[in-house]
Amino acid sequence: MVSKTSSVPEPEGLSSLNLQSLPKPAKGKGLWERVEDNRAKLNACVGPHDFQPLPGDDPSFSRKLSCRLCQGSLLRDEVSWYMKGLAHGRSE
Ligand SMILES: [Zn+2]
Repeated sequence: MVSKTSSVPEPEGLSSLNLQSLPKPAKGKGLWERVEDNRAKLNACVGPHDFQPLPGDDPSFSRKLSCRLCQGSLLRDEVSWYMKGLAHGRSE
């Protein structure tokens, strides 16, 4: 009979992983923070969102739309899905 030892050796790679070598976030507010800020605005909106082209943007070319109520912004594609969702919700 071979008796197994209870202590399992740590895998070499895990303990030697150097966290310092991971890429640092960009200067100022990171993209992720801005995304989270925007998400918080959208979540806190009294709704339904009223998406309009960003001020100064050409309405026919702007890729992002901003809600008049909460100032959260979404890509035009996302807004069109949101509007579809609203329409479907209302038709129930
Ligand atoms: Zn809104």
